[in-house]
Order: sequence, then structure tokens, then C-alpha cells
Amino acid sequence: MTMTDRLGNITNNSSPGASSAVLDRPNRQTRRRSRGKVQRGLRAETTLDRVKGCGHYAIGNMVSVRVGEHGADYGRLMTCGSVWACPVCSARILYERTREVAQAIEAWEARQGSMGLVTLTVRHKRSDSLKEVWALVAKAWSRVTSGKRWATVKADLGLAGWLKTTEVTHGANGWHVHLHLLVFLDDSVSEDRFAAATGSLIQRWTDAVASLGGSALNGVQDAKLLVNPTLETAAYLTKNVYMPDDLALEVTRGDLKESAGRTPFGILQDAWESNERGQRNAADWALWREYEQASFRKRQQTWSQGFRASLGLDDARTDEEIAADEEGDPELGEEVTTVCWLPIETWRIIRASDHLYEGLLDAAAIGDAIPFLDAHGLEWLPPEEGYRFYAGRVA
Ligand SMILES: [Zn+2]
Repeated sequence: MTMTDRLGNITNNSSPGASSAVLDRPNRQTRRRSRGKVQRGLRAETTLDRVKGCGHYAIGNMVSVRVGEHGADYGRLMTCGSVWACPVCSARILYERTREVAQAIEAWEARQGSMGLVTLTVRHKRSDSLKEVWALVAKAWSRVTSGKRWATVKADLGLAGWLKTTEVTHGANGWHVHLHLLVFLDDSVSEDRFAAATGSLIQRWTDAVASLGGSALNGVQDAKLLVNPTLETAAYLTKNVYMPDDLALEVTRGDLKESAGRTPFGILQDAWESNERGQRNAADWALWREYEQASFRKRQQTWSQGFRASLGLDDARTDEEIAADEEGDPELGEEVTTVCWLPIETWRIIRASDHLYEGLLDAAAIGDAIPFLDAHGLEWLPPEEGYRFYAGRVA
């Protein structure tokens, strides 16, 4: 089996969801709509202005109704581009990130290099704030990767490049922050060499954490050579995504055993459901808000400098660029058509009513957007005309 087969041909497909075993699950449209519902519920609770406006404010004087093979959506709306805190944007961003990781894995395999996965974490108490735990992890990593001894670790490991992903969960012992490092190794590295070199890397990590006043146990850090990296490997590094049908899985995943906790989107889901039941769970919302604030403007993924370029891969697009790209929306499918435009006044009426908002998407998905709008006495413009009169913020 070739790497491309194992990656579900993901790198050759402009729609990463289309052919991948991991991402191409049924109910794409259901999942997407659930995300939209939670996003709209989040408006009243979020502390972040951009998240509040995401999917709500129009960019210009009209909003489009778009239909693809997997359903319908509204277009020309503001996007927040938050990979951490927006159920809608995070999904779009992480589809693309998964594809990028898969491309890098494939390129590295073509060069016969080895790869490994290292997970680093710190001890934490229930009373530690997320901000504190996160800062400790970030500082410890920058200590690990500076100075002469880092050069020695790199040489011992044959480290050509790395991808670092930060992940957050919350459990009985409070906030848990860990780093997943996908390490790209120069040549075919033996198990023994890998174990020895990652052993010193881990020692360096626990020393760095201790020097910063924290504590990290060697035994809970993890390093393994990847024998046949798959799309699951790529998806593993890009999994902070709101997927209602996957939330239960997340909790039982082996690497979360220690924390036995919830993902942030799991917390959001519980908090949102409590509001839906009319029994707002203040404790869950407090956790969510703490998380929103602590993750604000942080990077979720970082490639070591110059590594992607050395593989001949493009620079990764920013989270904001991906979220705002209406063409590359993997969940709607390849062919996305604007079926009509809504003047801003119509849009304000629709977004204020779950019944109209959901009803129009349901109707549009089966080709009935116009009859639906007419039946509700809502003004609309046909595609060409709307396009002519559309005036966006961006020319
Ligand atoms: Zn968003």
C-alpha cells in the first residue's frame, strides 16, 4: 500500500473531506448544522467580540445563500477565524491543517525519513488556572529548544523538523495542557537510537519545567516511532474540532486517560445543552470563558522554521484566511452555487429566527430556497442581479 492510499489520497484532492477515511463520514451536513446552532447559542455567552460576530454580521450589503453537494449555507458573512473557540471556523481550519500535515508526512516518507510522535505535559492541580498551566508549558518548550544542549538533542535524534500542536483538556485535576510533537528524522532511525534521544529530550523537558517552578514526571511523557503514519496520524494532530458525534469518543481516548476529561468543545457542548434545557450551567460556562480568554491569539500549530519550505510545500495559510475562504469550504463540497442573495434587511429577519434560519437552509438544500422566501414574504435577489448589486467590504 502506498502512502497516498493510506492517506486516503488526501493530498491530491482539493476537498480534503471528500475522500478521506477519517473526515468523510456521513452526516456532514448534520454536523455542520449542529456547529452552526452551537455557534449561534455561543453569541450570548462568549467573551470574544469576533466570535460573537462570526456567521452573524454581513461583510457587505447582502448575504448569499449557497448550495453544495452536502447541503446549504449562508455566505458573505463575517468569520472569526478562531481555531480554539469557534465551532464553525475551527472545523474549516482543521480540515486544511489535516491536509497540510498529511502532505508533510507524505513528502517525508518519499525521502525515506523516519517520524515520531512525542507528547509532553506538566503536572497540574485543580486550583491552577489555565493561563498558568499554559504559560508553564510554553515557557518550558522554549527552554527546551534553546541553547547548545538542544543542538545535541537534535543531532542525536537526527531531527530535521517538527510540528508542534498544543492541546487542552479539562478533568478532575483541572486544566491539562499538552504538546504533541510530530518529529521528522533525517534517516532511518532505529528504535534504540530513538528511545535514547527522546529520553534526553524528555529529561530536558522535565528539567525545564522544574527550573520554572513546575513539575513534570518522566513516566507520563511519551515518545514513539511511527511505523506507518496514516491519515489518523495527521488527524490526531488537528483534532480540536467541534464534532458532536465524536465528543464521546474523545473522552475515552487513551491519551486522555490521565485527565479523564473533556475537550473544550465538549465543555461548550454541555454548556450549550444546559442553556437549551433552560438550566444554564454557570460552572461550565465559566470554564469555557476561561478557556476562550486563555487561548485567545495563541497558535495551535507551529512548524519548525523553514521545514515546510524544505519539503517544497507552500506556506501554511493563516487561520483567518482559511475561515474566510468561501471557495474552499470542504463541508459544502466541490461545486458550490449561489442560489440567491438576501438584502441585509432580509438577513436581519432571518438570523433573528431559528425557524427561518434553519428552514431556509433545509429548503435550499432541496432546491426550494425561492419558494420558501416567497412563502415568508422575504425579499431576495437572483444570483446575477445580486452579484451586480453586491458591495462588500473588500472590493
Ligand atoms: Zn468563527
